[in-house]
Amino acid sequence: MKGSCQILPQEDRHPRCGPRLVAAIILGLTAAFDSSLTAEVEAPNPYIARLGRIPDWSALDDYQNTITREEFTYLLNHCYARNGEEEYHDLIRIDRDRALILKQSNHPAAGWYDLRFQTESLISSTPKRFWRKPTEMDDLPPNSTRPLEGVCIAIDPGHIGGKWVTWDDRHFTIGQDTIEVREGEMVLAVANILKRDLSLLGAVVLLTRDGNYPVTTDRVDTLGEEARAYLISRNKVPSSGAIASTAKAMFAISSEIRARSDLINDEFKPDLALCLHFNASPMNMRRPSFQSPNHLHLLINGCYSRGEIQEDDTRFEMLLRILQRVYYEEVELSDAITRPMKSETRLPSFSYDGTNGMSINGNDILWARNLLANRVFMCPVVFFEPYCMNHREVHARLQAGEYSGLREFNGVYRKNIYQEYADGITAGLVNYFRARR
Ligand SMILES: [Zn+2]
Repeated sequence: MKGSCQILPQEDRHPRCGPRLVAAIILGLTAAFDSSLTAEVEAPNPYIARLGRIPDWSALDDYQNTITREEFTYLLNHCYARNGEEEYHDLIRIDRDRALILKQSNHPAAGWYDLRFQTESLISSTPKRFWRKPTEMDDLPPNSTRPLEGVCIAIDPGHIGGKWVTWDDRHFTIGQDTIEVREGEMVLAVANILKRDLSLLGAVVLLTRDGNYPVTTDRVDTLGEEARAYLISRNKVPSSGAIASTAKAMFAISSEIRARSDLINDEFKPDLALCLHFNASPMNMRRPSFQSPNHLHLLINGCYSRGEIQEDDTRFEMLLRILQRVYYEEVELSDAITRPMKSETRLPSFSYDGTNGMSINGNDILWARNLLANRVFMCPVVFFEPYCMNHREVHARLQAGEYSGLREFNGVYRKNIYQEYADGITAGLVNYFRARR
């Protein structure tokens, strides 16, 4: 399963954050007993995301003088801050020649990180990053049958599967004598088809998981202390029920995705990552039933709320994406994939109301949203949400499995749903790289 596209020396590794919150609290307690560290005693525990790590702001030193004030402000306001300056005004201050970034949002005494802008007198430099744009890859010979030659693609089949499905709600059964719908296993089927097809086109394909098991070594019963610390940091009562439900979400979502991000950022170092999911319409999970909506959308990272930018690690990760100019690559790549994806799936677009997702370029299938995976995988990420699993026709197609050839559904002959999903992506990637290499 593991591999790497480029061997980089240790010091070129992805900028890492510091200890997790429990470790920070222990450090804080140690400081409390040391009278020489009076200043430390007064500092509150940092406000960070679930299982997030305290950022090492010096990792931004590599990006000094690499972005102009105009570009920094454009990216921040256009794609990242949901409603522009009101989301970040006392957390990020934009001066004439620098941005000042508050290091600890609940403790201004910790100071500001000083990011100097590139001025016109300086030659434009490529920001430090492990991923490559297509223009930085070898040119393709004319009429090449391997348009993805050498492109390193990480595929992240969302959720888990197998006996682990019970840790989140992405599984259900509708009807008598039907196969249970399990999103984690379905996306793994799509990932395996993509691995085969993209490899034939020359790509180096690495999966974050190749079976129905967790990547993280944490388990619900090892996350109790982390869950308690998190609840306290959010001013919530750490009752046994709250600790249990927080530990469960920490395992299935936070810890699992962060373990996969360590694989992607420290081992795979891919040129792009594809996060595979199936969608579902809201329903009563105690009595699953068919719902009428069925649609398609793709996501790129963006649309941060003030509460999210207040988290020190989230603010740091958002800035890394801005400084690496991930946005342009994500938009162009996603645009190229939406067209074949739409014609393969024949699905209408889905829309957000502008709160947790926002439109960024007029493509009705493409939205910006801040999810853990598309924030912490530090390369261009395309996040897929096609098909509603609890739509009657989709459910019937899932029951039919991975058949070969075509089968009729509601008067239309269709490929199996997994191949159709993969074909939309493959065609989009081929179009994208052919046009740019
Ligand atoms: Zn999903």
